[in-house]
Formats: sequence, C-alpha cells, structure tokens
Amino acid sequence: MTDLPGRRLLLVHAHPDDESINNGVTMARYAAEGAHVTLVTCTLGERGEVIPPELAHLSGAALGAHRRGELADAMHALGVDDFRLLGGPGRFTDSGMMGLSDNDEPGCLWQADVDAAAALLVDVIREVRPQVLVTYDPNGGYGHPDHIQAHRIAMRAVELAAEAGCPVAKVYWNRVPRSHVEDAFARLRDELPGSPFEKAAEIEDVPGVVDDERITTAIHGEGTAHASAKAAAMRAHATQITVAEPYFVLSNDLAQPLLTTEYYELVRGERGDGDGDDGGRESDLFAGVAAAPGSGAAS
Ligand SMILES: [Zn+2]
Repeated sequence: MTDLPGRRLLLVHAHPDDESINNGVTMARYAAEGAHVTLVTCTLGERGEVIPPELAHLSGAALGAHRRGELADAMHALGVDDFRLLGGPGRFTDSGMMGLSDNDEPGCLWQADVDAAAALLVDVIREVRPQVLVTYDPNGGYGHPDHIQAHRIAMRAVELAAEAGCPVAKVYWNRVPRSHVEDAFARLRDELPGSPFEKAAEIEDVPGVVDDERITTAIHGEGTAHASAKAAAMRAHATQITVAEPYFVLSNDLAQPLLTTEYYELVRGERGDGDGDDGGRESDLFAGVAAAPGSGAAS
C-alpha cells in the first residue's frame, strides 16, 4: 500500500458491530478528515443472537456471511474503506459468551494462540504503519472471550511490531466515564415511557465504564454528521442492534444510550496537549503525534 495519508488509525475489534457501537463517531471523524482508518475485526460474530424474526433462521457460517455484509454497509456509512478480518474471513470464529462449551470449539478465537494471531495483526501494522491503535481493556470491556482475546492480540501485536521496527506511537482502550453514563441513564429512565423500548439496561451492561479520572481523551460528536453516521452504521448491523435515537437495544431488548461522545484511556505513548475546556482531556487521538509522510510499501 503506497501513499497513505499522514495520520493512520487502526482499530481492533472482536465482532462486526463493536466498531460502530464503540468508535463510530471517531471512525467517521477521522475518515472525513482524510486520515487513513483501518478496522481489523477478529471474527464474523457467528454466535450472535439475531433480533429480526425474518432473519432468525441465520446461524453459524450463514450468519457470519450476513454480518459481513452488515459490516460493509456500516463501513460505507462511516466512510471507511479499509476493513479486514484478522487472517481472512472465517480464520477465527466467534467463541460465544464466557463459560459456554462454544469456548472450546477448535478454530474459535478463544482457542487461538495469541502470538500466532498477533503475527497476523503485525502484518497489517507493517503495511499501514498506524500511529494510533484502539482496542479494548484487558477484560474486553465486559468479559466476552472474543473481546478479551482481541485485547490480548492487539497488545501483543504492538509489542511485536515495535520489535520489528514498526512502533505504534499511541495505544488507547475504549472507555466510558462513570459520571457521563450515570447522567445518560438518568435521562434514559425519564424518557423510556416515550420510547419504543420497554426496559432499560443497567450501567453495568455498558462495557468499559471507569472513574472519570482515567479518561484521557474524548472525541465529541454531539449534533455532528459523525453522530448521524454512527447511528446509521449501528442500524446497518440490523441482526444485532435496533436503534431509536438517542437509544438502542441489543438482542436482550434493554435500552441503552447511544453515546455520541466516545471516550478513551491512553495506555501507551505520550499524552498530547489537552483541551482546557474539557478538563485537559485530549480532543484528538493524534495529539502530540508528528504526522509522518505516507507509509510507502512496508519494508
Ligand atoms: Zn462483540
């Protein structure tokens, strides 16, 4: 790959839909700004529960194929052209929720050798040379085996890439500040009777919630085209998500706020200048990163 733009962002996710829920605003913003945005999804989410009754017959590989189409539609909504499956489609399959016998299936992501899977991601890093990588925290945000593995693979790939002379300047984990999600849920409980949804989720259902002090970076999207793009991308994942802005439900039918500001914790690299109006948090994942010229071919 030659002549990539100066700013290059890599996101590592477990299933199609995770990228839109966690990072839709961020991906839309950087794509719109002309940065190169690369999404690596580790599985096709073959064990996801399907919401629409007319698609309920889909499972396993057929569901994976369908979700691949949903992912393509979501990326179109976000303006992202470079989206890939780790090791190619079907290389790693969905491991199911923690504790199920699915976790033991050969070929599922939970059974993958982390170093071998990370080597596949290193190939992407060497090609794209991202300055910024985004993934989950060590618990995968909420304990799903594929999210935990995506975290391990991403963090190991950063180490291996650095050893191979291809360092990633900044690594972020997806986070949500507790005060923000508490406010959003208070509003949700007030507004639930007027919404199409019957029950609200709990704050504990939101992945990656931490005390506010740990948030280093906020990508604000309220009222912007990026927020609309995020909602459209989430709608594209129709087997998994039902959207009625400013809320959405997963297959558990419990309403959650659709967050139009996305939050991050910088865990590797130098924190850049913050925004004085936002408690000193960075407002740009690339803050402090010198824009390098296009990657050229990986050497
Ligand atoms: Zn997921």
